Amino acid sequence: MQKQNNTEPALKVIFLGGVGEIGKNMTALEYGDDIIVVDCGVCFPNGDMPGIDLVIPDTAYLLANRERVRGIVLTHGHEDHIGALPYVLKDLNVPVYGTRLTLALLEPKLKEHKMTDSVKLNSVKPKSVISLGANFRVEFVNVSHSVAGSCALAITTPIGVVFHTGDFKVDFTPIDGNVIDLQRIAELGNRGVLLLMAESTNVERRGSSMSEATVGNSLNAIFADNIDRRIFVATFSSNVHRLQQIMDLAVKYKRKVAFSGRSMLNVVEVASKIGELKYDRDLVVEVEKIGKIEDKNLVIITTGSQGEPMSALTRMASDEFNKVKLGFNDTVVISASPIPGNERMVYNVINNLYRLGTKVIYESLAEVHVSGHACQDELSLIHSLIKPKFFIPVHGEYRHLKKHAELAMRMGMQSSNIVICDIGNCVSVTKKQIKLADNVTAGHLLIDGLGVGDVGSVVLRDRKHLSEDGLVVVALGINALSGAMTGLEVASRGFIYTKESENLMDGAKDVVTRALERCDVKADSGDWGALKNLVRKELKNFLFKKTRRNPMILTMVSDTADAIAK
Ligand SMILES: [Zn+2]
Ligand SMILES: [Zn+2]
Repeated sequence: MQKQNNTEPALKVIFLGGVGEIGKNMTALEYGDDIIVVDCGVCFPNGDMPGIDLVIPDTAYLLANRERVRGIVLTHGHEDHIGALPYVLKDLNVPVYGTRLTLALLEPKLKEHKMTDSVKLNSVKPKSVISLGANFRVEFVNVSHSVAGSCALAITTPIGVVFHTGDFKVDFTPIDGNVIDLQRIAELGNRGVLLLMAESTNVERRGSSMSEATVGNSLNAIFADNIDRRIFVATFSSNVHRLQQIMDLAVKYKRKVAFSGRSMLNVVEVASKIGELKYDRDLVVEVEKIGKIEDKNLVIITTGSQGEPMSALTRMASDEFNKVKLGFNDTVVISASPIPGNERMVYNVINNLYRLGTKVIYESLAEVHVSGHACQDELSLIHSLIKPKFFIPVHGEYRHLKKHAELAMRMGMQSSNIVICDIGNCVSVTKKQIKLADNVTAGHLLIDGLGVGDVGSVVLRDRKHLSEDGLVVVALGINALSGAMTGLEVASRGFIYTKESENLMDGAKDVVTRALERCDVKADSGDWGALKNLVRKELKNFLFKKTRRNPMILTMVSDTADAIAK
């Protein structure tokens, strides 16, 4: 048992992700014998991680305390909040709670990992209250965000209420009419909130975010201006309200709708099944059948708003998409803004679209996208309604967290009541005090392919090495009995174009031959370790001298005497 301050039991708030970074949100709350987890997200790899598909939080702390983990509660269905669940649930199969759309967005992921039957999903509604263990009661509070079914969490603990905003904005004219539950938030504030955790994504932006409805107005104008042209709209598939607005416009302008991209088709299917997306079946045509429809009667809703290499829009833009060919009579609307880091990919797509003669409309030209995250005035509103005793800014890089702490201080909070956290920090909260306690194990795990395990740092270093300097392979045949060399091939990949550098490869062969002469082959014939090391060392020096580069060198030795004997 861990030592505890004997005056008063403390609530621990443990950050496994989502602070000091935007992405892979995951926070654990611990009191007495109970642990609950809020969200379980992924982030996407940066350029230093070749071949890595996903980055997930390190959950070693939870695994070490697995018998005390009562469940995972989800705020909403975005990847940075649910994407790591299939990987985490494999080792930590606890009940999962979320709204209908959140769970519907999670289900295809579980299916892909063949986990549908083994995971306990529990659907909740805004205003639902669930008990987890003896120490936690979680109430879901409706908020606005760029995916429907988003909730904040009011978590009652033995020492007070913790309010976690999740991702939110204040939209007074949301598409589904379910306005953020400010009344309940004010009520909670009046009863007293011990700790507020609020998202910080847009804390650098003044004023308020615009309503999702403004996008509808801009799109309406675009439909009206492009009456004879075929229209494409690229957007995030999870933004069901955006999809609804586009489909409503299609009805208004007598166009059919086709969907393109696997995640778009998935979301449309699950969202319409649970009634989050409403339309007549005959509005939709399969993308394979759009050839028969006149340009002016068609709108295509597609993935690829982030310029993702394999997405439908990216392939259309580089004319590699067989189902749809773009041309002069097409208008493409990119109804999204590039996530930081994706700008170059998005601009590449826009450039390619222009090359095909397509008209392109994107955020810097028109209001075709609004953010789903609260700006300064909306954050201030939440602070003033909740009136927390303590505050931890979350969902942001360090600068966002710092700016959010300053905002809270401008509104009258003392700096000693605010803690800015990093991954691995454990915050200890009592009724009287908030402070950092001992860190826990945390960090990230890298997933590639099916994610059978963490990709270690050695593998990653090799991939970086290969991607930067290429590979040279030496294949040596040696008769272990006589010590004579019976064959030698040197080949390279991604290093130097071999046809133009035959001299270099010939030189490399000489280096290998000389190394072989200096080696006691008979003594080494067990595993050829000494010979391989010598060849690698000599070749490395030779290639660096000639090219100033350091390719990875792979040496393979086969014993030809052995082959003959067999
Ligand atoms: Zn979100
Ligand atoms: Zn988020």
